[in-house]
Amino acid sequence: MTDAQFRNFIDGRFDLPSTTFDSIDPSTGAPWAKMPAASEADVDRAVEAAHRALRSGPWARVTATARGKLLVKLGDLVVANAGRLAELESRDTGKIIRETRAQIAYVGDYYRYYGGLADKHEGAHIPIDKADLDVTIRREPIGVVAAVVPWNSQLFLSAVKLGPALAAGCTVVLKASEDGPAPLLAFAELVHEAGFPSGTVNILTGFGHDCGRRLTSHPLVSRVAFTGGPSTARAIVRNTAENLAYTTLELGGKSPVVVFADADLDSAANAVVAGIFAATGQSCVAGSRLLVERSVKDEFLARLKRKAEAIHIGDPQDPATEMGPLATLRQRDWVEKVVAESLAAGGMLVIGGTRPAGSGFYYAPTIIDAGSSGLPCVREELFGPVLSVLAFDTEVQALALANDTPFGLASGVFTSNLGKAHRMARDIHAGVVWVNTYRAVSPLVPFGGYGLSGLGREGGLDAIRDYTRSKSVWINTSDEPIPDPFVMR
Ligand code: NAD
Repeated sequence: MTDAQFRNFIDGRFDLPSTTFDSIDPSTGAPWAKMPAASEADVDRAVEAAHRALRSGPWARVTATARGKLLVKLGDLVVANAGRLAELESRDTGKIIRETRAQIAYVGDYYRYYGGLADKHEGAHIPIDKADLDVTIRREPIGVVAAVVPWNSQLFLSAVKLGPALAAGCTVVLKASEDGPAPLLAFAELVHEAGFPSGTVNILTGFGHDCGRRLTSHPLVSRVAFTGGPSTARAIVRNTAENLAYTTLELGGKSPVVVFADADLDSAANAVVAGIFAATGQSCVAGSRLLVERSVKDEFLARLKRKAEAIHIGDPQDPATEMGPLATLRQRDWVEKVVAESLAAGGMLVIGGTRPAGSGFYYAPTIIDAGSSGLPCVREELFGPVLSVLAFDTEVQALALANDTPFGLASGVFTSNLGKAHRMARDIHAGVVWVNTYRAVSPLVPFGGYGLSGLGREGGLDAIRDYTRSKSVWINTSDEPIPDPFVMR
């Protein structure tokens, strides 16, 4: 069935697309909807609309308090429509309904949080070191924002961009991924309903090489907020050589989960399962490297194996399902390739490594006892349900293994020793350290990576500042004429 038809939202209108592409239901492998493929000309229209809204539209005169109210209203609409959006996301990306419902309902809080902040980020008055001059610092919206997101958790990844951007007074062109864009294109209806003036938020989808490239290199774009993989990030940085836009990059990871022998092993095993098998491992913070103290390795792997075997794989729309398919065939091909190479290089399969029978892009929960940190499954981000296991004997070894990666997004530490927990939290090179828990997020907390995991932070108070720039206003308070013109004041 391909009768569902989605539209781009540009300058306050839902466009009838001239070019479309099929969106695939990953649980069946069959097309189910037509998506609009935004052309470079569509991107130009959207950016120009955003620029007009920023400079001369009613948005330019909306007070910060009123912007905040609009964001709170948008948050309320997201919550009220979470069920419908969740069904669309589960259909289009294969993410299970249990997770999409809960995650989208929480996305409302992100908009409410930034709505609340809209009139609380202040400028400054400088105690200037020169007589008769008064200097204030205004914080102004940075300009038109190009927000580019991947297919996983699109509503969430958009909220951490749109929330602070709109709170700061910017306007936005948001590009949904060409894989699974349905929930964001449907979210555009809520933006419209909330009452943002035309052009303030534009939402479209299309492909990276034309639509994404044009958007991130557009001369009227001042800020790029990107989430995706490191190789695309490099293309984005090259694109921004054109417009010199201020850019933040939220990228992938190869996050370590360190389990010490003194940890509550059952709780740790549940966290490891949550870290790698929830969302079928398609999470930037997937805890894909398990580092376990050798003295408990066999016992811990036995627990993990039992839990992994019990995972209910099935239809993403069924609330009983715990693991759905991978989002794309391309993604499953990649996972299969890396697993095969890793087994050929000496990795030992503990469980999985197969496709369950039937249609759709399913892949079984997989655990590989890697033995060596040189294996592809230990080095590469798979973005799939594949856990690589390495053993350690000492805390120093555990730390060295944890940091033996070019990535640095998230990490987990499981121990009952408070001192050890603090030492690991201090010394792990990652933007997030979860101690005796995993995969917890909040709008109040900054999020972002070290190394190849990215540049900049999303979430928390400071994020709004990244969507502003300062303007210093110097006022001469003296009635005296300007003195010597050849000497700087
Ligand atoms: P991707 O990098 O292939 O695509 C992301 C977006 O970039 C898509 O919208 C795509 O169309 C666009 N794009 C592609 N080429 C482009 C170009 N040349 N110019 C401009 N835009 C272009 O990522 P993906 O495969 O969809 O998603 C998976 C990746 O995203 C993983 O690496 C994952 O770890 C990462 N991710 C990171 C976070 C985080 O917050 N750090 C969150 C979720 C996902």
